[in-house]
Amino acid sequence: MTTTAERNDEQPPAAGGNATQAPESAALAPELAARLLRRVTLAPGEHASQPSYAPFTGELVGRVPVCTEVDVDAAVRLARAAQQKWVRTSAAHRRRIFLRYHDLVLDRQDEILDLVQLETGKARKSAFEELADVAIVSRYYAHTAARQLRPRRRWGALPGLTAATEYYHPKGVVGIIAPWNYPLTLPITDAIPALLAGNGVVLKPDSQTPFTALLGVNLLREAGLPEDLFQVITGAGRSIGTPMIDRVDYLMFTGSTATGRHIAAQCGQRLIGFSAELGGKNAMVVCADADLDKTVAGALRACFSNSGQLCISIERMFVEDAIYDEFVPRFTERVAAMALGAQRDYTAEMGSLITPTQLEAVAAHVDDAVAKGATVLTGGRRRPDIGPLFYEPTVLTGVTGDMDLAADETFGPVVSIYRVKDREEAVRRANDTDYGLNASVWSKDTAAGRELATRLQAGIVNVNEAYAAAWASTDAAMGGMKASGVGRRHGVEGIRKYTESQTVAVQRGLPMGAPPGMSEQTYAKVMTMSLRILKRTPFVP
Ligand code: NAD
Repeated sequence: MTTTAERNDEQPPAAGGNATQAPESAALAPELAARLLRRVTLAPGEHASQPSYAPFTGELVGRVPVCTEVDVDAAVRLARAAQQKWVRTSAAHRRRIFLRYHDLVLDRQDEILDLVQLETGKARKSAFEELADVAIVSRYYAHTAARQLRPRRRWGALPGLTAATEYYHPKGVVGIIAPWNYPLTLPITDAIPALLAGNGVVLKPDSQTPFTALLGVNLLREAGLPEDLFQVITGAGRSIGTPMIDRVDYLMFTGSTATGRHIAAQCGQRLIGFSAELGGKNAMVVCADADLDKTVAGALRACFSNSGQLCISIERMFVEDAIYDEFVPRFTERVAAMALGAQRDYTAEMGSLITPTQLEAVAAHVDDAVAKGATVLTGGRRRPDIGPLFYEPTVLTGVTGDMDLAADETFGPVVSIYRVKDREEAVRRANDTDYGLNASVWSKDTAAGRELATRLQAGIVNVNEAYAAAWASTDAAMGGMKASGVGRRHGVEGIRKYTESQTVAVQRGLPMGAPPGMSEQTYAKVMTMSLRILKRTPFVP
């Protein structure tokens, strides 16, 4: 591997940080780096490498190879060969591997959390959410996959005569393209159902966070996943994404709506299935009867978890007039008191942004809004005294439609608050967006909250919670409406999408057409009578 050539997408952040806040060291330990890099699929030959930098300090984390089309080809071939054997393993065998993985992830949490924080600069509590999610999804699909994929008897065409059964066969090799914001949970939890359904996987993690993904895959190997079944290729999405889509049998994409559209077109050309989890401009509705203390605490998590770099983060808050003057000052005061920090412990409430690009995008949104007349209630400043990429949690009012952040996803710690007359106005304005990923509703009347939730155009809605209640209800589907996505993860949809359904119908006794000796005209009459009778028969699939 050469160490020059292609650079990462991002510039290194200028080193900085407060000595009392900065973590002890930045660079990945060489033994760990070497161990993880063995999991990257590389065809023989020289490879350029690309660096990634630690957001807390701006120091180099490590370098990963820049894979080429030849590597992608090798990865898909290896995964395909391994899948042929994997598909013949028993459900019980697969289940044991993923239950072991559940335990390994919990047991090795210090190592995992350190690496997630190193690569992302997030607060440890946000890193822990990722880890817990991996354990939850492992347990869930380990216990449910066999039931969700067992052959199902279906109602046949002619009751008693046609026996129809639906089978679920693995697609083959599933490609996964993942973003940087949740570098452990997004690639791994989307791979878990794909693997349990009998597929091989080829993963392309984000260039900023390759080592976390490699650690997640390495632990799967330790849990007993066959060598070669799960391949990882590293490098820029725009150069290895297309060769990957050209070779896999299904694509799971998580990332921006712009890239999602591009990838959807490529999958469409090949007529392969795909699922896309994309951006959001998520709304919270605070009803007049909301519990103030709980709502303030919930809103804090909703807007600033993972420094707002969370697809289901709240960026627009609609507060009913009757509670606005009480809620907004209390929320603002709590936001202003948030503890920012770069420690590898649980003391910080919010960590850093991830890259200089991300920091500039967030600052540009706020600056544009302020220049056009928005009011900053708190925040709105970079905090280089804590670390090079820190930005304060920011609350804005007076946001109007001509400001960039009114409609576009900021993907940072910035929320705009709007006063609304009543719930009707809140619903109308919450739905007035191209996106439809998450929403949050706060009301002491949970029945009314649930009713309001069903009128919001969002794939998940949390009542009296920020985002985690719906996300972590793994038995229920999660995904985006409108420009926030296509397809769903979690639940039965989250595993069946990785399969081809096949219907086998066995016909007994009479054929489906006129039996020998019966004219077509008589057959039509008999069928007409039968259909009238069937209409009155309760049809319970
Ligand atoms: P991005 O679209 O820029 O990148 C995501 C991934 O796609 C990366 O691995 C990147 O390398 C790859 N990629 C980029 N261009 C590609 C191409 N032409 N072909 C193939 N792959 C390509 O997104 P991002 O900025 O890294 O992530 C943030 C976005 O992701 C936000 O919009 C956020 O809302 C969204 N997101 C959505 C969910 C969800 O579940 N809906 C979860 C996390 C993030």
